[in-house]
Amino acid sequence: MNKNRSIFPKEPKDKKEIHQYLQALKQADIPWQSGKVLAYIYQTIPEAHEIAHSAYALYLTENGIDPTQFPSLLHLERSVIAMTADLLNGGPLAVGNCTSGGTESVLLAVKTARDRARDLFPHISDPEIIMPKTAHGCFIKAGHYLNVKVKEIPVDKETFRADVKQMQAAITDQTIMLVGSAPSYTHAVIDDIEAIAALAKANKLLCHVDACVGGMFIPFAKMLNYPLPAFDFSVEGVTSISCDLHKFGYVPKGCSTIIYRSKELRQYQVFSTSSGPSYSVVNPTVLSTRSGGPIAAAWSMFHFLGVEGYKNAVKDCMEAKALLVKGLNEIPELSLLGKPDISMLSFVSTSEDINVFELAERMKSKGWYLQTQLKSDISDAGIHISITHFNVPHIAGLVKDLKASIQELKSEGEEAKQLPLDPNMLKAMMANFTPDMLHGFTALLGSNDQGVPVNFVAINKILNTLSPSERDKLLVAFMNKLFSNEA
Ligand SMILES: *Cc1c(COP(=O)(O)O)cnc(C)c1O
Repeated sequence: MNKNRSIFPKEPKDKKEIHQYLQALKQADIPWQSGKVLAYIYQTIPEAHEIAHSAYALYLTENGIDPTQFPSLLHLERSVIAMTADLLNGGPLAVGNCTSGGTESVLLAVKTARDRARDLFPHISDPEIIMPKTAHGCFIKAGHYLNVKVKEIPVDKETFRADVKQMQAAITDQTIMLVGSAPSYTHAVIDDIEAIAALAKANKLLCHVDACVGGMFIPFAKMLNYPLPAFDFSVEGVTSISCDLHKFGYVPKGCSTIIYRSKELRQYQVFSTSSGPSYSVVNPTVLSTRSGGPIAAAWSMFHFLGVEGYKNAVKDCMEAKALLVKGLNEIPELSLLGKPDISMLSFVSTSEDINVFELAERMKSKGWYLQTQLKSDISDAGIHISITHFNVPHIAGLVKDLKASIQELKSEGEEAKQLPLDPNMLKAMMANFTPDMLHGFTALLGSNDQGVPVNFVAINKILNTLSPSERDKLLVAFMNKLFSNEA
């Protein structure tokens, strides 16, 4: 079986061969099973993974498209939403839906706000939402898809919290919703949700809290008496919350929730068209056909782990985060950004000798995957680390290898650290960029047999010198090429 250019199979193959092929293919992936991959993967105890796996398989075929014909899924989804809403102090009137992920949850929150404004406030012709610059990029994507303007407001330079005064100043008669994160992904800092929600309420605006990454973490941390601020429906003025179950809920991927304080608001989320000759398309979420797998897995995970299981996971993660913060504080070449509220964090380099992209690559050679982030108008290029339950035993080793990598990089020569392209040439290339020019970049920087770059240090250094709009041009062209036969 050829990896890249497959033609439709003529002869059926046997089960075993197919399975072996799929297994073997994973060998090139980042080896997350080691527990040393500190992004993308959320895992707790192995038994929980097994439960989720079997529940997912049990409901793989059932279709959430029509809850009247699959009362099993109606029951499971209502139940998952009720349990999540309970955790978020939603009260008896809270409603919501399971979605495919945080992006879909946020997309729906923005659509709901837009359609409510269309219904209730006809003077709003150019709806806009206001959010801190640290909010997740999926809001910008939602604005792009839904034709809603997204105003990004600078955050406090020390704490990385939303600057609520500046958010207030940005409100106009076209504003429909304010956004806060609980917490932001990058810095793991919880915005002042009480202040944002109060501002929203005073201006008769909706207030969405993006708790995609924190919604299944903060409530348990509070039960463990970690002093974290109020962020959920207990805060007056909060009207909707996105909460991913496939992050710290430890549910398999494809599961998030969008929850509203009441169904008066959620009515704007539901879409219906019944004019065609076929079945009426009446969907509460973006997807129409959807597998019962993620919902059944979520229901099972909640019941399998219970409050005790989640509290244990959160406690271990918070202790591991403290260990990592202590370790980072012992490394003068690195500087933690803000004070992370949950078990994720970002840091930057404070030393001329240490380039974070080189550091990430050096760590990769020691078995670690750390997520790099490009320079922005908020912070310098940096590294992000998410600690989930199954990473916990590895954090002492992480600190040790960070220290070792830094010593290694410092003892190496300067010439290895230069930008791989002449900056003026790069500028000239970007000024007249066409997608074909990617070939030039690839030839210069190298790629593997699937067209994936191998030299991430060089790529990141180049991207880091470009403006966001130049980066986006390059990244779109790259992604467009990657999923093609040219790659
Ligand atoms: C992960 C995340 C999202 C997006 O979720 P996806 O499931 O990746 O679509 C949105 N907001 C925050 C804060 C996140 O951490």
